[in-house]
Amino acid sequence: MSRRYMIFIRTIALALLVSLGPLLVTNLVLENYAEQRARAEMQSIAKRYISQAERAITQVVSALQELDENSVNSCSWQNRRAMGNAVGSNVFVHSLGLADEAGVPMCAVPAKALSGRNLLPAYSVDSPRVGLGLMDQDFRGVKGARISWAVDNGWRLFAEISPLVMDLEPGPEYLRKASNLQVRLGADALWVHTSVNSMPVADGSDGPLSLTLRSSLYPISAKIESDREAILELVYELKIVAAIACASGAIFLVMVGVWFSWRPDSEAEDEFIAAIRNNEFIPYYQPVVDISTGELLGCEVLMRWQQPNGVMIPPGKFMPYAEATGHIFEMTRRLMVQTIDEVGDLYSRNPKLKLSINLFAGHFNNREIIRDIKEIYGASQIPLSQIVLEVTERQPLQNVDLARKIIAELQSMEVRVALDDVGTGHGGLAYLQKLGVDIVKIDRMFVDPLGTDQSASSIAVSIVELADNLNMGIIAEGVETYTQMKALEKLGVSEAQGYLFAKPLPVDDYLLLAHQIETGTYNPVGAVLEKQLALEAERLAAEEGGANEDQSQPAA
Ligand code: C2E
Ligand code: CA
Ligand code: CA
Repeated sequence: MSRRYMIFIRTIALALLVSLGPLLVTNLVLENYAEQRARAEMQSIAKRYISQAERAITQVVSALQELDENSVNSCSWQNRRAMGNAVGSNVFVHSLGLADEAGVPMCAVPAKALSGRNLLPAYSVDSPRVGLGLMDQDFRGVKGARISWAVDNGWRLFAEISPLVMDLEPGPEYLRKASNLQVRLGADALWVHTSVNSMPVADGSDGPLSLTLRSSLYPISAKIESDREAILELVYELKIVAAIACASGAIFLVMVGVWFSWRPDSEAEDEFIAAIRNNEFIPYYQPVVDISTGELLGCEVLMRWQQPNGVMIPPGKFMPYAEATGHIFEMTRRLMVQTIDEVGDLYSRNPKLKLSINLFAGHFNNREIIRDIKEIYGASQIPLSQIVLEVTERQPLQNVDLARKIIAELQSMEVRVALDDVGTGHGGLAYLQKLGVDIVKIDRMFVDPLGTDQSASSIAVSIVELADNLNMGIIAEGVETYTQMKALEKLGVSEAQGYLFAKPLPVDDYLLLAHQIETGTYNPVGAVLEKQLALEAERLAAEEGGANEDQSQPAA
């Protein structure tokens, strides 16, 4: 469960990484492209304004120059006709006229009412020959321009350029909505200005995109500022497409990840269920013996996974999975049924033999185990009075009160209950009293130091004392040495289980051993004693041999 969850989380993180990267890069590329595009566009708009202004001024100046060369320097009717011809033949000239030294117009073509106020600045000898200025009237943000040409007597020919001349198409729609354009004459006279209502500048952003172009002929500049956000509209749709593509990629990756993280588990699950159905989980039997007599007292049933390829898997490898998935319930039922088939005869012939079955904490969460035990062993060759159920102290019981009731009910059916792995787990010694078990199994951890390490042995000693006080049976687990056996005997513990006597055995070996013990042809404790005697004899012989050798050595 948690492994799947981890894989799932990792898959999602990976999918996000794998798809967010390209999304960010694509967005950057698109934004960059939009900016480049907008810059090129802005450049060409500014260029168009500058060249239109240059063309207009150049043509108007040359028209004025031509009039001067033709001595049009008074308001005579011939001169006015010449002015009229110039207006007619020059598209940029809107009107022409002559002003005096103070700049007051004296005549104009086409004829119009002259207000008598000066249109041009007063003339002085160091005034430039050509003067550039703007008129007051404004048409859609564009002003008219006035160009003057000084003739010899200090009077000036002047021509007006219509605002329409500079009323150009200011670029593509998306830019027009997002740009401010200013064409200036000199430093600050504003000839053309088109502006959008507002140009938002987001906090921390780079401000609007801005570009200024200057004329190389006249003091004219064109400046364009464009809103960056609005420019991005150009690639808005492409960005959506990129986001959809990356999101689809992410979803695809997540789906692949989910498939890969779920599939093997479900395959493993299927394999496990098939193994349960094929009865690949089989019982091994580890004898429990009386260490004072060598008598067989029974066995503990230990599960093994015997795979079809012959590989034998110990419970440590599959028990956590079986317990986590709940398959352990069915596996335990099947295990119990197999014990009847395999050792039913032996047990019905020997009513003193006990059969110990391992349960896990989950078995004490409801009363199902009571029904199972009744159903399976109730009318079998192995009566309930020969059954021992082991509750491990390693795992915490969810509901101790309910466990206590279940245990009591099992005991009322003559089933005995043992607390397994005592001293290693959650309950502490208080569990012994609380759960009211019949038998205590001292864990190998506390049997190990017996006879060799005085202080480490003290836990085993106190478990034995407590069990004795509570009138409980005691079984020592994991007995591996003669020394441990002797120490247990001294403590008054007579029931033991361990490699010293026998490992967990396949059924045939267990039946053979039981038969040998029954018929007196083999005694497991006798075998231990014999082995020990042989060892001691060997040691003595070695010591004696050593002493003789010492004696035969000549003195130095
Ligand atoms: P456990 O109930 O404490 O079983 C005793 C374990 O100690 C067994 O390991 C046994 O092979 C091992 N053992 C016995 N004598 C000696 C010894 O002298 N020296 C050493 N080093 N080990 C010894 P096994 O068979 O591998 O089982 C391990 C655990 O798996 C069991 O511990 C038990 O908690 C669990 N288990 C086994 N079968 C079942 C079952 O049918 N149901 C449940 N719920 N758990 C089971
Ligand atoms: Ca056990
Ligand atoms: Ca144990």
